[in-house]
Amino acid sequence: MSVDAVKRERLRVNEIFHSLQGEADSVGFRTVFVRLTGCPLRCRYCDTEYAFHAGDWHDLDSVLESVRKFDATHVCVTGGEPLAQPNCLKLLERLCDRGFHVSLETSGALDIAAVDTRVARVVDVKTPGSHESARNRIENFDLLHARDQLKFVICSREDYDWSKEFLREHGLTQRCGILFSPSYSEVSPTALAEWILEDRLPVRFQLQLHKILWGDTPGK
Ligand code: SF4
Repeated sequence: MSVDAVKRERLRVNEIFHSLQGEADSVGFRTVFVRLTGCPLRCRYCDTEYAFHAGDWHDLDSVLESVRKFDATHVCVTGGEPLAQPNCLKLLERLCDRGFHVSLETSGALDIAAVDTRVARVVDVKTPGSHESARNRIENFDLLHARDQLKFVICSREDYDWSKEFLREHGLTQRCGILFSPSYSEVSPTALAEWILEDRLPVRFQLQLHKILWGDTPGK
């Protein structure tokens, strides 16, 4: 392979670590997280700002080797915004080829069309409380499969009402799983649970398991 070809297969990686999946359908499974550097968004509540700029370049083979060493069946590619690096698509494909259960956490602002269909895509819908709701890429909704999930982080009662209306307006509950999470330390989990029950919403309430276990500790 030429030097240029090798360069084209590199990724800037913030961290690779081993933890329990804290969210979405694979919650509780031992999972290797590959956190890629960089994000074009600036959500008000972001808890991974350390991934905006810091990271080292690795070729895809070395990333795959690091993942393999943890001896886990689940891998989650996250960020930052992992799709901001085009080689993320190759990484996802190769992880699937090696038989891992692969999930992708993405902001919902970038095109998900080219993501390998074997990947479970967890796509954010940015609420007004994030200050990034103008970035939601509505065209992504038509691309969602049953194994994908849309995630709303609810920062207030206003965010909850907005999300309820957004689900109705775009017919989203028919497309894939819908996750509602309370924004950590902003909305009482109990209040959000009560709102969902009161409105009989067809959504799945979730708490971030890793935050309950380890708080904001990076690499967990
Ligand atoms: S999309 Fe994710 S990583 Fe990017 S600023 Fe928002 S919360 Fe942080």
